[in-house]
Amino acid sequence: MEAPKGMTPEDKQRIIARLNEVFAREKCPRCGNNGYILVDGYIPFSIHQSTNTLGTLIAGGPVVPSVAVACSRCGWLSFHALGVLFKESAAEAKHG
Ligand SMILES: [Zn+2]
Repeated sequence: MEAPKGMTPEDKQRIIARLNEVFAREKCPRCGNNGYILVDGYIPFSIHQSTNTLGTLIAGGPVVPSVAVACSRCGWLSFHALGVLFKESAAEAKHG
């Protein structure tokens, strides 16, 4: 079994291009800066169906694969679900 690969340079380019397309005029909500840094790696938000499982590590459970963007001045973090970021129909439904 091959070890999982990290975020490739091609992945980074593709994600940054898409973020620039979606947030071309957006500024940081905390400091007004318009520069950001893509955090190098994916953030797996784990899904819990019950509050009873909060605080419990569930290996292999459902996750929302996401990327994180940090403001290049103040470090404010925002997260973007990859499934929505790259799904044109979701963006159209929201704006249409
Ligand atoms: Zn900021």
